[in-house]
Amino acid sequence: MSELHTLGVHEVLERLNRRECSSEDIVRDVLAAIGRIDGTIDGYLSVAAEDALAQARAADEARRQGAGGRLLGVPIAVKDVLNVRGQPCGCASRILQGYVSPYDATAVARLRAEGAVFLGRTNMDEFAMGSSTENSAFKVTRNPWNRNCVPGGSSGGSAAVVAADEAIAALGSDTGGSVRQPASFCGCVGLKPSYGRISRYGLTAFASSLDQIGPMTKSVRDAALLLQVMAGHDPHDSSCLPDPVPDYAAALVPDLKGMRLGLPREYFVGGSDPEVERAIRAAVEVCRGLGAEIVDVALPHTPYVIATYYVIATAEASANLARFDGVRYGTRAAGAEDPIDLYKRTREQGFGPEVKRRIILGTYVLSSGYHDAYYLRAQKVRTLIRRDFEQAFQSCDAIVAPVAPTPAYPIGEKGGDPLQMYLGDIFTVPVNLAGICGMSVPCGFTTRQMPVGLQILGPALGEGSILRVGHAYEQAGGWSHRRPPL
Ligand code: GLN
Repeated sequence: MSELHTLGVHEVLERLNRRECSSEDIVRDVLAAIGRIDGTIDGYLSVAAEDALAQARAADEARRQGAGGRLLGVPIAVKDVLNVRGQPCGCASRILQGYVSPYDATAVARLRAEGAVFLGRTNMDEFAMGSSTENSAFKVTRNPWNRNCVPGGSSGGSAAVVAADEAIAALGSDTGGSVRQPASFCGCVGLKPSYGRISRYGLTAFASSLDQIGPMTKSVRDAALLLQVMAGHDPHDSSCLPDPVPDYAAALVPDLKGMRLGLPREYFVGGSDPEVERAIRAAVEVCRGLGAEIVDVALPHTPYVIATYYVIATAEASANLARFDGVRYGTRAAGAEDPIDLYKRTREQGFGPEVKRRIILGTYVLSSGYHDAYYLRAQKVRTLIRRDFEQAFQSCDAIVAPVAPTPAYPIGEKGGDPLQMYLGDIFTVPVNLAGICGMSVPCGFTTRQMPVGLQILGPALGEGSILRVGHAYEQAGGWSHRRPPL
């Protein structure tokens, strides 16, 4: 049994560049790992084995011919919400069963242009709505550190396959924490870029003013590289920023001298699991030892973030999901008498309970008579939340915080209680509401050996700062190298 599947992106590239192995060797080894492990993790919805091997052979041939490519031959897993040409894109929903992507998302196209190989589709909460991957229409992904626990969500499949070494890296999407929180629960790195940094073209829309694609990796350095390749202007997404993409690798220095890190006092008021808080505080001390100055910051609108997010996200979702009606995409219900009946039957049969709950809630907050009381008011509070961060970043370069109030919890524990599930998003949703960037980096374990993530937040387009903090921390006291006993 070879160890190639355990490597990260940079290590794979080093081996490939030294001609110690081929991309085909790596893909075969990853496929073998999937064959051994995924039966107990259920991270993948589908694996494109033949397609991936063909891509790998093409990458090997290109390398023989002297072609470059910053990711030439590196296999990557993709959350089922992102379009990869020729592969299914079902958002873990029955309503999209049978849908095959005719095109690549821009982020995928940019990775492909650099030679990345696309392995398959990872499990998720249906339409990315959830925090535990239990809302998938097809199966529950298990946490590689404890198979009775959730992997987090909604990108739980991507986090689990990276942590279990069933992929070299993966892509997720983050509307309110879906890259960072599963990364924290599974012990890998997950980066949510600033709104507009990566094109959303080809990302199935959940809440268009909040959605971002993000890398999920085995190191901060790998996340920086994937971000580098995916970021930048795209004429297909008018919200994608034209700002030049800085050299993120240059930000990866081993110390934090001259940096000020803010600790938001509202995030340490006793609502978190004490083991999570202990791990975060220990990580803060490591950062102090690296030369950072720790300052106190305030985010006074924290009590309103959950309500604000669940009004705005559901409102946008209700509009975005209107397109799934049995006519253009995926499955169509049988036996309909007229078009309206067709829409009703298809949506009734195709959507799961959480998606229906959100469509109903979102339709309600947008309906005439309630629009001003809910949606408009939420937009105003969103502005206040954004200003909290603008204010905080006046006195610090990055903010350090927990990702979630708890580590991964047992499967089924919160599944029946949507409100409890929503409350777990308190530290991640404000980042999307404010449009800023954030990353989860492994920062320790609970006594039950469940991973804990440190959340590092930066201002809009401040990815360089959070990568610097994450990398220096990872090098000094980090936990990214730890792997679950499988
Ligand atoms: N957990 C949050 C929700 O359920 C965030 C999901 C996401 O980021 N896609 O909406």
